[in-house]
Amino acid sequence: MRTSTTTHICPVCGYDELHEPPRNRTGGASLEICPSCGFQFGVTDDDKGLTYDDYRLQWIESGMKWSSKGKKPRKDWNAQTQLGSLALSASLKRVRGRPPRVFLKPN
Ligand SMILES: [Zn+2]
Repeated sequence: MRTSTTTHICPVCGYDELHEPPRNRTGGASLEICPSCGFQFGVTDDDKGLTYDDYRLQWIESGMKWSSKGKKPRKDWNAQTQLGSLALSASLKRVRGRPPRVFLKPN
């Protein structure tokens, strides 16, 4: 029997204790809600049409608040540290899931 202790990084906010990869190998979404930023994989992106970048920007602009009411953040939780480690992970190409899509909006 396999115990699931592997955790995954949220590609939106860098939270590193997601239970499932946001996207599996075939691109299927986990439907897991990130307790940190509140992004739901397969819903916020597929149904609401927000990209990781869009949502991250909204989250940062709204003050980077912990999203989950049922789950408490770690004592040392710090949104900025988390985003910093996401940037580092991204530069090391370790963030799983689809690469962020960039839309150029005309002025
Ligand atoms: Zn997140």
